[in-house]
Amino acid sequence: MKAVICGELFDGTALTLKSDWTVLIDKEEIISSHPTSDCEIPLDAEVIDARAFTVIPGLIDCHDHIASFGYEIAGRWGITEQQTHRHMRIASTLHQTLQTGYTTIRDAGGLPAGFRDAIDEKLIPGPRLLVSVGIISPTGGIAGHLSPSGHKTPFSDDPALPDGVANGPIEMRKKVREMIGAGADVIKFAATGGASSRMGLEPRDMLITKDEIEAIVDEAHKLGKKVMCHALGGPGLTASLEAGVDSIEHGTFLHEDPRNLQLMIQHNIFFTPTFAVYKYHSEKGTPHGKRRASELKTDHTKSLLAAMDQGVKIVAGTDAGGWVHGNNAEELVCLVEAGMSPSQAILAGTQTAAECIGLQEELGTIEKGKKADLLFVSQNPLEDISCLQFGETVSLVMKGGEVVSDKRHESL
Ligand SMILES: [Zn+2]
Repeated sequence: MKAVICGELFDGTALTLKSDWTVLIDKEEIISSHPTSDCEIPLDAEVIDARAFTVIPGLIDCHDHIASFGYEIAGRWGITEQQTHRHMRIASTLHQTLQTGYTTIRDAGGLPAGFRDAIDEKLIPGPRLLVSVGIISPTGGIAGHLSPSGHKTPFSDDPALPDGVANGPIEMRKKVREMIGAGADVIKFAATGGASSRMGLEPRDMLITKDEIEAIVDEAHKLGKKVMCHALGGPGLTASLEAGVDSIEHGTFLHEDPRNLQLMIQHNIFFTPTFAVYKYHSEKGTPHGKRRASELKTDHTKSLLAAMDQGVKIVAGTDAGGWVHGNNAEELVCLVEAGMSPSQAILAGTQTAAECIGLQEELGTIEKGKKADLLFVSQNPLEDISCLQFGETVSLVMKGGEVVSDKRHESL
């Protein structure tokens, strides 16, 4: 049994702080959360003094690419280093990500399910993972991994990462089953071009047919999996909402069609804006990537504000894995810059994020019955959200009741 005596607690159930609060933990689970004055601490409990910190729930990133380390084609094809070396790089990134306060990550493509299983088996330290394994799209879409010369990757025969290209509803159903067979917890498909897509594939281009989208959603839902949909705007975005996907990733031009937000409310579809990645694309991307990412910033902010106004559920997802690892909290800073309050941004990365990934019974808040994922922060992130960047002020990380990072001596 552990008793965490908090100075200030942001438990993710409301937008405000609680003062002088004590959280009791038995093994993995939170068994009570009460004002310290009302809390009877069992004599055999290990008392952890967190009075110098603001305690918040473990953070969740709903859209990361842990196995991406750049956008150049050789790296994407996995031919710049031996697989073993690459796997160690991924393991190191997972450890780093956990230490910065991210206790759960939903990977949106490129990460084999074996990493999830290795973490669950405690072979390596890392966040709890949900993986999509690959990204599904028809020929010509994002899953194609074409080189600028037009060559397709000649190297992909790793059974842990099936090729994502499929055409027509029947093949889409097969592809969904194939991804699940390779260990996918969630199905990811791409309905439109993106900021970093090659020339000619624009963010409002619909790169899939309506019956293909319907087949993906139906097959995934029948097999109990949620569907995350890469869509920036245009008819591909609206058709995906009509088909009942579970979350829209990027959603940059959502605000352009008033039906979009209504459909999201109607079908309880989450919105994962990805501001951090566009910042990188606009600064360091290809010439056309830079142009697109700079152009879409205003629309992205407009979509966020319109979604907030309509009450659409918004979650934090960086998508920045290809540029930088270990700074998932940058997205929280971006959300605040775009118009959220710091407490709203933290909810987007905790309570609402847990609901988006279907783990709201276990994660996202510090309350009775949830897994004990909590962070001790040496500054108050409600006053300055940027203190969470790179986990700089995250002094202690607890995942499932276990202290997995403890730097308290550095901050006191
Ligand atoms: Zn992505």
